[in-house]
Amino acid sequence: MENKSFYKNLVDTSLRGDLISPADALKCLSDSEVDWFTLLNAAFEVRQYYWGRSVAIHIINNAQNGHCPEDCNYCAQARTSEADIEDYPIKDDSEILDEARRAYEAGAFRYCMVFAGRGPNAKRVERLAGLIAKIKSNYPIEVCVSAGLMNQEATDVLKRAGLDRLNHNLNTSQSHYPKICSTHSFEDRLTTLKAAQRSGIGLCSGAIFGMGESPSDVIEVAYKLRDVGAVSIPVNFLLPIPGTTLKTFTPLSPEYCLRILSLFRLINPSSELRVAAGREIHLRQLQAFSLFPANSLFMEGYLNTTGNSAVQTLQMIKDAGFSIDSTHELDDLLGRLERDADCRSQTSQVEGVILKQLRDLRPSKRVSGCS
Ligand code: SF4
Repeated sequence: MENKSFYKNLVDTSLRGDLISPADALKCLSDSEVDWFTLLNAAFEVRQYYWGRSVAIHIINNAQNGHCPEDCNYCAQARTSEADIEDYPIKDDSEILDEARRAYEAGAFRYCMVFAGRGPNAKRVERLAGLIAKIKSNYPIEVCVSAGLMNQEATDVLKRAGLDRLNHNLNTSQSHYPKICSTHSFEDRLTTLKAAQRSGIGLCSGAIFGMGESPSDVIEVAYKLRDVGAVSIPVNFLLPIPGTTLKTFTPLSPEYCLRILSLFRLINPSSELRVAAGREIHLRQLQAFSLFPANSLFMEGYLNTTGNSAVQTLQMIKDAGFSIDSTHELDDLLGRLERDADCRSQTSQVEGVILKQLRDLRPSKRVSGCS
């Protein structure tokens, strides 16, 4: 096992704002001499310095499902996908606003609206701006939008409306990118991030692992996200949805996922690091350990797949000794959600990739009663 000075050097380098060397980064991911639990502890020191023990809860709203002309081969909404998703055009404003209210009441720190597609036209940008302004004036909640490729004219409009974060994931390394998408490039994604940054919007950009990438690709994208100045980094572990066209799904162990999260924390010490899609399936019984490097997570599932219920997620945060970054108290929220337990919160631990049904994707439209 590596001696104590190896881990101390990682922490000191990270806290000084210096870059972990590529050789040490590779050791963190792939060298069995580097003990994963000691590495997790090193990442926790950095996490604690910047974020204490707080956890920011994100709730995602799939505001438009399917109908995407792009061919990202991991995505159930791609034009090349035959996944059996519930597709629908953009929700009307009242439905999106109602779901923002529900997210706020469920303790969300940030509400993320996702619109499938290559990118919004000027009319769509104006509509998004109107929605952002309405949500910000009604609820004390941060707003993030994910809507594809954009130029600075568009990001300026969204900034003026009050947008806090723009999500646009780099997903993988530049060299691996052509293996996951052919309709747009890694450079296209970088251009959108730069436009948002020039507009003064905080960048939310992350990655997906389990798509056949090597440890060097993991390291490359971690450095690149630091380089572009991502203040929020979602780390996803691929949920292989049947019908998607990606052929190189790489099984991930809980230990490897924790090594990735730890490395991301050490390379991006002050960023909000989110353990995103796939934590239930890939981390399994070690899910709570992800909170030691990460300081944020999604509650109530992901774009097209279910996750642990709000009650299960909040209970995990509490049991692991963390608090939530919210205007609500964790105990009050847990008590209320347990009392109001509905169909989703009665769901048992997630054990496989389960597609969301309409009642999950459009909760404001659901009829009462559990089916
Ligand atoms: S652009 Fe977004 S919605 Fe469209 S296929 Fe790619 S990841 Fe999916």
